[in-house]
Amino acid sequence: RPAIERPSATRILVVANQKGGVGKTTSTVNMAAALAQLGQRVLVIDLDPQGNASTALSIEHHRGTPSSYDLLVEGEPLSAVLSPCPDIELLSVVPATIDLAGAEIELVSVVAREQRLQKALRADPRISDQPVSDAGEERFDYVFIDCPPSLGLLTLNALVAGREMMVPIQAEYYALEGLGQLLATVDMVKAHLNPELAISAFLITMYDGRTRLAASVAEEVREHFGPQVLRTNIPRSVRVSEAPSYSQTVMTYDPGSPGAMGYLEAAKELASKGPGTKGADT
Ligand code: ADP
Ligand code: MG
Repeated sequence: RPAIERPSATRILVVANQKGGVGKTTSTVNMAAALAQLGQRVLVIDLDPQGNASTALSIEHHRGTPSSYDLLVEGEPLSAVLSPCPDIELLSVVPATIDLAGAEIELVSVVAREQRLQKALRADPRISDQPVSDAGEERFDYVFIDCPPSLGLLTLNALVAGREMMVPIQAEYYALEGLGQLLATVDMVKAHLNPELAISAFLITMYDGRTRLAASVAEEVREHFGPQVLRTNIPRSVRVSEAPSYSQTVMTYDPGSPGAMGYLEAAKELASKGPGTKGADT
């Protein structure tokens, strides 16, 4: 029996913020690992050509590995490009290879270029609006899509394919800078391509409780976005940043560390905050 209830339908979360280094990849892999530890069936789709999420989850991603490039550009089915994470039960990964760096350009001339990922995900019976009792045990509970630091066609594909967004915000100067542009993109996607899309969570990352700055940034973000901001701040912790160099998430690398406990808490919060909850609208 899972430690927390499985959602009534697959939740597809886009982890996006066009600013680099705010904790998108770190939050993707650790939230995913935490939810898997809580008994949820989880899929991570790496949409960043850097492949950092693939590395952290210990998934091969050299050129030629079946990957998100094949899913988006070549039209391969999801089943052909995912692999189980070797270290974390219930977690599967679609890795990103460097081929994806060209996809942004290659997709420009493709028909329905913004809908490629949506189409691929909808074709797989394990991503379903049905409860597990109807869809089957194999149904995914959570799909996390780790986006690159831009608002190009890769991120756009994720925003069209997803139902929810999780937006990591680094607790530092200029934290809110650029968010206006992100929210405008979300509104555009909602108006024209995916009316369902909603922001379920802002997540404050790299929070240093000893500094006045971090506290005031967190306060400002909460004033701005209210209940959409998860109560849990992810603390800045060196164990979090070390884990990927061992091809691990902090959840397995040092489960007792403050970073791991933060992500576990945040994951429980996200699970209790279903899609369409109050304040989930932009
Ligand atoms: P993004 O995917 O948004 O570019 P990353 O997740 O790669 O950002 O994080 C940027 C850098 O910050 C990485 O080196 C990562 O290890 C580090 N980092 C992220 N979260 C934390 C944290 N809570 N504590 C310490 N370092 C962190
Ligand atoms: Mg990243």
